[in-house]
Amino acid sequence: MKILVINSGSSSIKFQLFEMADESVLASGLIERIGEKKGHIKCILHPETGKERIIKRVELIVDHKSGMHRAVDILTDPDSGVISNSSDISAVGHRVVHGGETFHQPTPITDDVLAAIEKNIPLAPLHNPPNLDGILVARDLFPGAAQIAVFDTAFHQSIPPHAYHYALPYELYEKQRIRKYGFHGTSHKYVASECASQMGKLLEDLNLIPIHLGNGCSMTAIKNGRSVDTTLGLTPLEGLVMGTRSGDVDPAVHAYLARNCGMDIDSIDMMLNKESGLKGLCGMNDMRDIHDQIAAGNERARLALEVQTYRNRKYVGAYLAVLGRVDAIVFTAGIGENDGVVRAKTLEGLEPFGIILDPVVNNQRVREPLLLSSTESRIQVWGIPTNEELAIAREAKIVLG
Ligand code: AMP
Repeated sequence: MKILVINSGSSSIKFQLFEMADESVLASGLIERIGEKKGHIKCILHPETGKERIIKRVELIVDHKSGMHRAVDILTDPDSGVISNSSDISAVGHRVVHGGETFHQPTPITDDVLAAIEKNIPLAPLHNPPNLDGILVARDLFPGAAQIAVFDTAFHQSIPPHAYHYALPYELYEKQRIRKYGFHGTSHKYVASECASQMGKLLEDLNLIPIHLGNGCSMTAIKNGRSVDTTLGLTPLEGLVMGTRSGDVDPAVHAYLARNCGMDIDSIDMMLNKESGLKGLCGMNDMRDIHDQIAAGNERARLALEVQTYRNRKYVGAYLAVLGRVDAIVFTAGIGENDGVVRAKTLEGLEPFGIILDPVVNNQRVREPLLLSSTESRIQVWGIPTNEELAIAREAKIVLG
């Protein structure tokens, strides 16, 4: 069974085609700069096999539909040896960012589901519209395939009311559905399941704290396999310090900036999402550059690292209190998988809570699930590579039954 996974953004589409019999990747691709004069298409056929082939093109791609058409042309080209025609694909799994309160699990896409995703646009104005575009194009291009939506928010729908409510006038929840939703759910669920299988346990028997540290960052408290709290909120801005997003700030910052700095709400929103976080503190949002600058004596780079890892540690403490018993902490995503310094600083001083890293193993980059804690650590610490595309393909396969 072949499943295509599509992650459709405002000006780009990422895709991966899986052979589910062995979960191998037949092709992966990125179509960028849709709508610009010079669109970019990159497609890797049979990646990481002896037959790997990379195809790159620069040409006008007027819209998502024409972008996906080019991708299908590449995949069905007899020279590529991937598929003979689009009907070889059994299902298309779509990443959809915001499922609001409507979707608790991956869902076959019907007209009603499309309408519900559309209704959630005010909650994710930048993400849900291009996600919808991707679905419409795929319905057209793969009429025989099942279309399945996998929501970033779905895993967190088990969070209880005392954790998802903000202490705001209740009407804002009733009328506007303003509450915590959480994101990165597919990644948190995937690494939690991988961690359970590494530990030889059932996920529903485990309490875990997965920490997703990439350009976007979030942490989740998982009790008996279900999300009970997470750091991202109504939008993907709350919580940890991210590449360019602030994470938690005093909500009065908005009023202060409006009254005293003449900023309007759009520029404040832009600043908090695009000019804050690590970048706001030191001008760089890539952790590799920050380490280079720290080595060169840049104090602001050091401050950015300290602020991010302190915030991480504070939330680990909060989730230890939320969960009581914790079986494992899991680091994942670009920083979480590669950066032993961030992992060590995040867990610094937590030895009295039974969290002890093995300094030698923790110095390694994580290529596959790796136990990072020492044998005397009561709480295990794992590094587990996330794979959201494979997670979406697996979810789609489950929905197909
Ligand atoms: P992601 O969003 O998961 O793709 O993560 C992207 C981020 O991971 C980059 O912005 C970097 O900050 C970080 N990153 C990637 N590779 C490394 C590395 N080798 N060491 C430290 N950080 C890294």
